[in-house]
Amino acid sequence: MINLRDQRIKQTERAKSNVKKKDDPSAIKEREVPQHPSCLFFQYNTQLGPPYYILVDTNFINFSIKAKLDLVQSMMDCLYAKCIPCITDCVMAEIEKLGQKYRVALRIAKDPRFERLPCTHKGTYADDCLVQRVTQHKCYIVATVDRDLKRRIRKIPGVPIMYISNHRYNIERMPDDYGAPRF
Ligand SMILES: [Zn+2]
Repeated sequence: MINLRDQRIKQTERAKSNVKKKDDPSAIKEREVPQHPSCLFFQYNTQLGPPYYILVDTNFINFSIKAKLDLVQSMMDCLYAKCIPCITDCVMAEIEKLGQKYRVALRIAKDPRFERLPCTHKGTYADDCLVQRVTQHKCYIVATVDRDLKRRIRKIPGVPIMYISNHRYNIERMPDDYGAPRF
């Protein structure tokens, strides 16, 4: 029998060759963590402690502005400890792309109290960027109001989520004695 990939068969009827496309080595990878890191021996991530490094996304800044909440102060009111908001290159690029209407957000993101985290990966999709970072490094809290991003973060062990409710910040997945009371 003639091979179904044979060149003599019409192109439209020929079986597709199974040569795989090469993976782009610089693409954002979201890998599963096969083993639990030792800091997650207890229910909560024991690597976390003040000062807290908090990765903020674009919407978290925008919602904070709307709710008239000062980011750094409100974070400290929530966790009773020093907090350092962090902005990745991707989040900064996202805010810059929003243009003039969001210049307040841009000014906040460039506040010297914020720590800038440089990105080495390709692409600027901020959600992927944040998920990748907290998958690899268990030393961050993620601050977001985005439902999809929250859902993705919840799948990663040991990453607390800061969100906005009742005109204040709140935290989930942290032991009670660390943070603010929950509403
Ligand atoms: Zn990035």
